[in-house]
Amino acid sequence: MFTIDKPLPAITEDGAPYWEYCRQGELRMQRCGECGHLRWPPSVLCPRCLAESGDWVRLSGCGKVYSFIVVHRPQHPAFFEDAPYNTVIVELEEGVRMHGNVVECPNEDLTIGMPVEVVFDRVNDEVTLPRFRPRK
Ligand SMILES: [Zn+2]
Repeated sequence: MFTIDKPLPAITEDGAPYWEYCRQGELRMQRCGECGHLRWPPSVLCPRCLAESGDWVRLSGCGKVYSFIVVHRPQHPAFFEDAPYNTVIVELEEGVRMHGNVVECPNEDLTIGMPVEVVFDRVNDEVTLPRFRPRK
């Protein structure tokens, strides 16, 4: 059957360390060296204080579903076979909100506030996507 490759994140210079940590099974974000703000998405300058310095800190990978939708009619043909699938915003314990999907959970069981933890889905040699699963 004819299949279309799914679009994948572009790995930019700013985000390259993030993706490298994902390949290693670690969720990390940049922490500003001046004000401590967690930068998401990765950037050269801190959006709060414009400092360049920072380091990549490991996050707990735990959070809660802040919001979600269930997609029944994907906009991109590469996702037609996956529908219906969920897209979530997870608020991590560290306060950052990031997009993803909840796996290992039927869509009808998703709830706002559901505790989740990160899992890593290796797509190819370059891209490993963080996703989330219900946390017990
Ligand atoms: Zn800062």
